Amino acid sequence: MCKNFRGRYLAVGIALHFVLARNAIVAQCTFSPPAAAARPVLLYRFGVNGERDSTTLGVILEFTGSASGIDTVSVPVQWAGERLQSMRRLRALDADVEIDSIADHALRIVKHPPGRRVRLAYELRRDWTGALNHPYEFHPMIFGGYIEMTGANALVRPRFDIYTPIAAEFDWTGVPASWAVATSFGTADHAASSSVKAPQADRCQTFNGPWRDVSGALFAAGDFRVHRFTIGTKPAVLAIRGPWAFTDSAVIAEIQRNVGLVRAFWHDDNFPYFLVTWAPFDRDHGSSDGTGFTNALWIFMSKLDSLSTQTTQLTHEAFHAWDPRRMGQEPDGEESRIGWFHEGFTTYYADEIAYRAGLIPLESVVRRANRDLTNFEGSTDSYTRGDVIAPMARRRDSRCVARYSFARRRHAGHGANGRRAANARSHPRDGRSVHRAARPSDASRIDGRHDGAAGSALRG
Ligand SMILES: [Zn+2]
Repeated sequence: MCKNFRGRYLAVGIALHFVLARNAIVAQCTFSPPAAAARPVLLYRFGVNGERDSTTLGVILEFTGSASGIDTVSVPVQWAGERLQSMRRLRALDADVEIDSIADHALRIVKHPPGRRVRLAYELRRDWTGALNHPYEFHPMIFGGYIEMTGANALVRPRFDIYTPIAAEFDWTGVPASWAVATSFGTADHAASSSVKAPQADRCQTFNGPWRDVSGALFAAGDFRVHRFTIGTKPAVLAIRGPWAFTDSAVIAEIQRNVGLVRAFWHDDNFPYFLVTWAPFDRDHGSSDGTGFTNALWIFMSKLDSLSTQTTQLTHEAFHAWDPRRMGQEPDGEESRIGWFHEGFTTYYADEIAYRAGLIPLESVVRRANRDLTNFEGSTDSYTRGDVIAPMARRRDSRCVARYSFARRRHAGHGANGRRAANARSHPRDGRSVHRAARPSDASRIDGRHDGAAGSALRG
């Protein structure tokens, strides 16, 4: 099966690359103009190139250039503590557009005719050799049979504040029809057979909102098995690849239960779409990674480990949908200052939710707490520090925990900046639902400088 589809994707990929590189006016997706006409529109088109062991993902970015004729673009050079060298051959597709390097290797200067559409192309390729094991999941994973990447590690973009409202368009028609496409913004099944094309509309995805949700997005395509199911009453998608010691149905049941528990904890079921990707590391035992994204989370785990090893990983990553995502993510450069806040509370509650549901024994909760208490003094690790501070704050009760509940709002009856004072003093396990915070969760919001006393116990 692999050989057959490999032949097809090579043909499609090479053809697409030729078309896109030489004649970029060819468009597979036709996007409607965004409702908010004033916001920047970024269009990304993707196509697979190359041979199985040297596969590249071709990306074309289109945006409207500024009236000045000069724009700065950001290129992905690091993410999640990893230095990235995946991006190659960044170039303009029009002769009257120039790209200049500057001292900051994360930026480029693009000179273009003022106000005109700018088209840039680049390629992503795997920037390590050997097996896929932690921490290489944080690099763009570009393989012959599949790709998986994030907005932060793969997308070139015009430089603007991460909270800038944008319209983003993603054209996945250039990846093989035999590939499933599963992203933060939609899922397209693979073609049912070589003679039946997958629905093209599902490969034309759009997003309107702050850039940070594109930066925090997950993109996967390839030989994933796609399963659609519900968590409670809300739709969800599992995109899973590789053989496992358990069934896909068992993974779905685990997601339904564990993510459902966290949604119940928050009394927030506002998830019109949610994706979980599930993929193997190239080792048999002892390693896993979960990461939360916009409308999504991923799980990587060792091939032969049991499903139960992911119980608190799932509650942890599901919890990040609120802390920090629906509270307001930290601004650039604040991660080291307030990382303890979202990792600590999330670690603490991920275990507590699982324990209360009878999914993990008290011993494992105590073991983790003791380990972090032992390591706390002198530690700069956000998980360790936060895991110790979170229960302290909880015991100090409402005044301290008020800092934690700053973003909690009911779905109804509040504007974007609304806050119900009574709720802000109660414990998050009381489970008020939240809206996406209008403001970033910077250090001043967390330690309560705006709210008066009691912040000191939470200062990290
Ligand atoms: Zn975390």
